[in-house]
Parts: sequence; C-alpha cells; structure tokens
Amino acid sequence: MKNRKEAIVNQTQVLVRRRDALRKALAGDLSLLKELRSQTSGDVVDAALDSVQDEISSQLAEVESRELSRIENALERIREGHYGLCEGCGCNIPMARLNALPYATLCIKCQRESEREGAANRADVDWGRLLDSGSGEADVSINDIELDGS
Ligand SMILES: [Zn+2]
Repeated sequence: MKNRKEAIVNQTQVLVRRRDALRKALAGDLSLLKELRSQTSGDVVDAALDSVQDEISSQLAEVESRELSRIENALERIREGHYGLCEGCGCNIPMARLNALPYATLCIKCQRESEREGAANRADVDWGRLLDSGSGEADVSINDIELDGS
C-alpha cells in the first residue's frame, strides 16, 4: 500500500505539471485567436483561411480544456483521498492503468462496460456516470432481482 501511495504522490506531480502546461497552452490559444480576428481584413480568401484556423484552434482548445477539467477532477480526487478508486465497482484501479491514463475514473472492466453502453456518445460517458450515480445503483438492484429469480 505504501508503494501505491508513493506512486500516487508521483502521479500528482505529473498531473500538476500537465495542468500548468495546458493552462498555458489554452491562454496562448486565446491570444492567438484574438490576433487572428484583429488581422482579418475582409478579403474572402483570408476570411476563409481565418475561419479554418479558428475552427482548428477552437477544436484544440476544446480538447485541451476537456483534458484540463479531467486533470482538475483527478487532483480533487487526490485531495479527497479517493483517487484511483473505480467509480463503477469501487476497486483499486491498477497503478499501471493510472500511469497510462492518470485521470481514469473507472477500472478496465467498468470502462469496457460503459463503452458498450455509451458507444454512441462516448465523450459523455465519464461525466454521465459522475452526475448520475443514482441510476447506477438502480441497475445493480435490477440485476440482483434477476439473479434471485433464476
Ligand atoms: Zn470497476
């Protein structure tokens, strides 16, 4: 258990560094966007290029800000002392998985299950589970009833 604790301390440092880098990148992207807008002269080609550039930048910013909120979520879980616990089944997520995916909130088994359930809107799976933990309990009790009946 001590090794796991040390590994989580290391993980915290990795996460904080990554968070700071993302914050900087996001701040940089915003200033870049402002610069691009102020340079728009009304030329059709320039405007088209500008909108493409805008789209790429805003997509990047979206990905980065999503990762940033995941990292902040992970850091909050570290502070609260339940980092590395699976939100699906409550088991300890293996350190190898946390090293590969520091803000994982599900073990591999639960991740696979949630991907099967939400393949259509995969991006919302993690947040859906976070916001709607009550429905997870309902699923368990339905399964229990089925088990009792067979
Ligand atoms: Zn799990």
